Amino acid sequence: MAPDRPMLDHLAETFPDSPAAVRLKAALLFAGVRYDPCLPAAAGWAFPNYMPYMLPPGAPAFEGKRQVALPYLLRLAGDTQVRLRIKPDSPFSVRPDAGPLGYAVYEGDRRVTTTTFEARLPWTDRLTADGTPMRATGLSQHGDMLVLNVAPGCEYFVVPGDPGGRTRNLSCTFCLYGLPDQRLETLGQELYVIDVPRPTLDRVIEACQHPGTEARQLYMVGGSMLDMADEGERYCRIAERLAEAGLTERYYVACGSGAIQREHMLRMKALGVRGACFNLEIWDPAQFERVCPGKASIVGRERWLRSLEEAVEVFGPDNVMTAFVGGAELEGEGAFDDPARALESNLEAGEYLIPRGIQPIYSLHWKVTGKNRGEEPFYSLDMFLRLNEGLAALRRREGRPINPAFFSRRSAYMQLEPDYDEAVHDRG
Ligand code: SF4
Repeated sequence: MAPDRPMLDHLAETFPDSPAAVRLKAALLFAGVRYDPCLPAAAGWAFPNYMPYMLPPGAPAFEGKRQVALPYLLRLAGDTQVRLRIKPDSPFSVRPDAGPLGYAVYEGDRRVTTTTFEARLPWTDRLTADGTPMRATGLSQHGDMLVLNVAPGCEYFVVPGDPGGRTRNLSCTFCLYGLPDQRLETLGQELYVIDVPRPTLDRVIEACQHPGTEARQLYMVGGSMLDMADEGERYCRIAERLAEAGLTERYYVACGSGAIQREHMLRMKALGVRGACFNLEIWDPAQFERVCPGKASIVGRERWLRSLEEAVEVFGPDNVMTAFVGGAELEGEGAFDDPARALESNLEAGEYLIPRGIQPIYSLHWKVTGKNRGEEPFYSLDMFLRLNEGLAALRRREGRPINPAFFSRRSAYMQLEPDYDEAVHDRG
């Protein structure tokens, strides 16, 4: 791309088949926005990013402070979401605006579109009956989707090794959030134990029952267990509680476990769970073994794929997804040395999975180490759009759009798949 060329012009020429809103969302995911004082000013009412932001040198303090809270999610016209990142060199900014949403996105001095932020919803500031803040019950939200995670610690980090009591770390190389840490104590999770304490479930259910969540989807997730049967049992028991509380009626509940056995899927289906998402993370078999040693050695790629196919039989073809970490095959020793190979492999995943009723969903992989960790994705913007255009074409060819009841553009804050399909749907 020519250095002074506006990014959105370049994208419009290179990706004419991608809707303009998708190109903008992708550009914002990659380039972020520059800091503007309207951002901390909005943090009082917007859904907050829990990581504080340190103002760059030269920017005036905000209300006397240099460390400020910022909104977490941009909400664009058309109701898609974008995770907000601040990057000092971004061509984009968000500024106050007289338009209906109160803010606008600019590229340089050109006003691109109207926007706002996802609002802080009342449940996040409430307490449960026993005085626990609802946001500390294992529940989080992005737009349409509540994410319920009452057992975040992943046993792949601590696989029992030898009689000497040492453990091996077989966690996925990109994963930080499954690390057993302080959250286990807060939630009462015990490693290698199926059950989550009853008070923990009581609290999170109370939070899900809050009338003001404005969510439509409830996605159960958690760290993996070493035994597939135990993990399936854990999710069945959580689903039982959700069903008792009427939450499988109120929300589209999906099981975001690792690969589990058919009998557990059948039990969940009978309880009202409607979808499943078992994340394979990496398509290429050798890269899967390298990046996901726990999933590869404890479950195995073939068993994982069989589990996804069984999920289609149980939940139906519109109700099964598997997430991938786009670009993780390009990082570390033994990585693919050519991004084109990663793209080819990712499209191969779509060719295999989509006709079988399984939707691959690609999130970006952000560097997890080094000076720019968390800021730079491994995929280039062009590669990410090429991948998404390719997958959207496969979904069209197969007549299998993403099911918006399961995954909508207002819950896809780092992914583009629903934006392609819902835009097509809107045009029709
Ligand atoms: S299985 Fe899930 S939680 Fe565990 S290391 Fe891999 S990505 Fe993280």
